[in-house]
Amino acid sequence: SSSSNRYCCVMLGSGGVGKSALSIQYVQGVFVDVYDPTIMDSLLRMDTIEGRNITMTVVDTAGQDDYIDQTTPYIRMADVCVFVYSVTDATSIVHVSTMFDHALKARQGKGPMPFLVVGNKSDLQEHRQITVDQGRRLAVTLAGRMRLSGEEVLAVTQSPLFMETSAKHRDDAVLLFRSAVMTINKVRSTKSMS
Ligand code: GDP
Ligand code: MG
Repeated sequence: SSSSNRYCCVMLGSGGVGKSALSIQYVQGVFVDVYDPTIMDSLLRMDTIEGRNITMTVVDTAGQDDYIDQTTPYIRMADVCVFVYSVTDATSIVHVSTMFDHALKARQGKGPMPFLVVGNKSDLQEHRQITVDQGRRLAVTLAGRMRLSGEEVLAVTQSPLFMETSAKHRDDAVLLFRSAVMTINKVRSTKSMS
């Protein structure tokens, strides 16, 4: 319901971009240098956002070959999809676009798909392959692929659609998940008005 204090994020993106590092930084407050890339997990955190107590479930996906297909049920149950690439890996941003189209299909009939695009590893400036602008443009392009009504477009696009993060910085991880909550809130309030 629109007043629910439960939120669910699904983390999507190529292996090694930092999905687990961002999730664990938010939930446990630590940066993991090494984390098993095959672990798929569901993490829980209580948080207070804009004065409200909330429960966030972060679904941290993992896998290789048929990875995209395995994500379908999580995409369908999530309130928001977080598409992560690494600013140090040009291939990983292409993968976001592919993943986004898969997610749209997976959610067909479920209304607007709240999402965020996240360019992670922003601390590795000397290895950067993707500019901030390229990331932002991709997010806008992806939003355009959804066929939304006017008020749905506003709900999905008012909040930051795009951000760069470093999983080494706790503030970045917190801002990412709080932005996700705000995006979900906007979509929920649009639904309760109609
Ligand atoms: P996943 O496969 O998407 O879950 O990626 P991981 O979270 O396992 O991260 C892959 C590797 O990149 C690990 O060695 C992490 O420590 C490292 N990593 C993740 N995020 C960052 C980041 O923001 N900055 C830096 N320097 N390394 C990162
Ligand atoms: Mg992982």
